[in-house]
Order: sequence, then structure tokens, then C-alpha cells
Amino acid sequence: MLVSYLKQTKELFGDELYLSKTSNSHEKNKNAKSDLDNFCKEIYECQKCPLGATRNKFVFGAGDPQANLMLVGEAPGAEEDRLGEPFVGRAGKLLDKILKAINRSRSKDVYICNVLKCRPPNNRDPLTSEVERCEPHLLKQIEIMRPKLIVALGRVAGKTLLKVEQPLKDMRGKLHDYFGTPLIVVYHPAALLRNPGLKPAAWEDFKWIRSILDN
Ligand code: SF4
Repeated sequence: MLVSYLKQTKELFGDELYLSKTSNSHEKNKNAKSDLDNFCKEIYECQKCPLGATRNKFVFGAGDPQANLMLVGEAPGAEEDRLGEPFVGRAGKLLDKILKAINRSRSKDVYICNVLKCRPPNNRDPLTSEVERCEPHLLKQIEIMRPKLIVALGRVAGKTLLKVEQPLKDMRGKLHDYFGTPLIVVYHPAALLRNPGLKPAAWEDFKWIRSILDN
């Protein structure tokens, strides 16, 4: 209900009023770090779907437990599976640069994770059955952290979270609702590496993200 109200005011009055209505409305969980650590210990041997048998490393998530910004990708890739860390490699480095440009980092007001905690073979898209089993883990992370904003990185993460079959252009630039938390869908950093022409649009998205977080 709050989110639809915010959407309505955003449509009517733009970001400024929307931001003034949301500022300071989020009470953080002071025990988020220990709660996340405990939850990770609970599920790191998860075998609820077949990916548990083929993973090298379980990739829980990383970053600031008190973060207002939660970035969510679809699933770990090869490097993430090898290291147990989300968003490493070239795409991760680019993401770090983008975060620096909005005055944030993995250790400062940002938490990064994926919908799936284990790597699908050959980096294929997550199956619906895998998402059904794994998404409750993400929901628990959100419940613990209470982020102000969730940002889905790329089309697959966006459609997986929003349960829609849409191209990225139709999801991007809108304020969605993910179980009561505002959610924005942006280009995946790997897409920006493949097509640098998308970077100006991506920068617009991150300026919008910064304005939401800073107000
Ligand atoms: S992908 Fe998720 S549900 Fe499947 S085994 Fe890994 S943690 Fe469990």
C-alpha cells in the first residue's frame, strides 16, 4: 500500500516529493550483521535444489549489513562459484567503479547478492523450480537488512524477481515493488562491458538511485 502511494505521488509530483515522503522511514536492524552471519551458517550447505550438488562454493552475499542499497543479480557465475563472492571479475570491477561514482562501495551502504546462491551449469538462466526453492533465502536477507531500495542487475534478475516476461527496456526506469520494498531494474554491468553505448543510460539510472538513497 505504501509503495502504490509512493508510485502515485511520484507520477503526480516527481522524485522530489516522493523522496521527501520516504526519507528516514526505514528503521534498520542493529543486529543485521550477526543475523546475516547466523542465517548464512544455517543455509550454506543447502541442498534444496539440484544446484547444491554441482556448486563449488555457496555464494551468500557480501557487503555492508546496514546498507540501504541491496543489489541483486540472478545467480553466481564461474568466478563467483570459484571464489564464493558475488560480482567478481570484469563486470564486478565495473560495478565497483559505478558505486564509487555514487559515493558508495561494497563496504559502505551497499550489499550485493543473487537470487540463486549456487551457480547454474554453463551460466544458464535460473529455472522456475530453482527460484521457488531459493527465493525464500533472499527474502530472509531482505527481512534482516531492511534495505531502502533493491536494484535488480539485468533483465534476468528483474524478470525473476518481478515474475514478468518483459524486455529490460520495459522494466527499466520504473519504480517497482518487491514484497513491500521499492525495486529498480538496471542494466547488468556485463551488458555495459559488451555495449559501452549503454553507459549514459546506466549513469542516469544510478543518479536516480543515489537521489533516492540520499534523501
Ligand atoms: S540454489 Fe538455493 S535452493 Fe538451490 S541448493 Fe543452492 S542455496 Fe539451495
